[in-house]
Amino acid sequence: MPDTPAPALVPRSRSKRAEDAASLCVSCGLCCDGTLFGFVPVTDHEAEQLKHRLPMLRDPESGESTFSQSCVALGPGGCGVYEDRPVVCSSYKCSLLRRVNAGELDRDDGLDVVDRIRVLVGRLDAVLPPGKSFWPRTQELRDTGEPNDDAGEEARRIFAATLLDLNVLDRILETEIDERLGSIPEAAPAT
Ligand code: SF4
Ligand code: SF4
Repeated sequence: MPDTPAPALVPRSRSKRAEDAASLCVSCGLCCDGTLFGFVPVTDHEAEQLKHRLPMLRDPESGESTFSQSCVALGPGGCGVYEDRPVVCSSYKCSLLRRVNAGELDRDDGLDVVDRIRVLVGRLDAVLPPGKSFWPRTQELRDTGEPNDDAGEEARRIFAATLLDLNVLDRILETEIDERLGSIPEAAPAT
C-alpha cells in the first residue's frame, strides 16, 4: 500500500486528505489482495531483505524476483512489512487514491466503490475454480473457455454469469482503480 504520511506543517485540508487517503487504503487493500494484481516485482536487494517474510519467486530465465498476491503480509491493519515494503508498493497510487488525495473524491465515496468491487469479488470467489489466489483463478476461467454441450445447461449458465461478473469487475476496476495485471505496473505519478 502507498505511503501517505501527513506532514506536520501542511494546510489542514491537505492533512485531512492525507488521513482520508491512508484510511481508504487500510480499508481497501485491492492492490495487495490479488484482486488487481497477480504478482509484485521486487529488486534483488528487496528480495534478499524480505525473503523470510514474503515467499519470493525467481524467474529462471530473466532472474527477476517477484512474490505472488494475495500478499501474505496483508493483514487487518494493512501492510505487515510497511517499513520495509518494496518500492513498487510504496510508490503505487491507484486512480481512486489519487482522486481522494487531490480532494476530487470524498473518502466515503471511495469506500463505496471498494464495497461495490468487494461484492463482485465475493460472488466470483464462490464460483471460480478452486485455488489460492484470485487473479490466476480469474485467468484460469478465461483460459478454460465456455463449457461444451456435454457439461449441461446449468454449467453453461453459471459460466456465462461468472464471465459477465468478471467483465463487470474488470470494467469497474479499470474505470475507478486501475487495469488488472499479472504484475504491478510502473508506479502512477502522485498528484
Ligand atoms: S508488501 Fe505490503 S504493500 Fe506490498 S503487496 Fe504486500 S501488503 Fe501490499
Ligand atoms: S487499490 Fe488504491 S485505494 Fe486500494 S489500497 Fe491500493 S492504492 Fe489504496
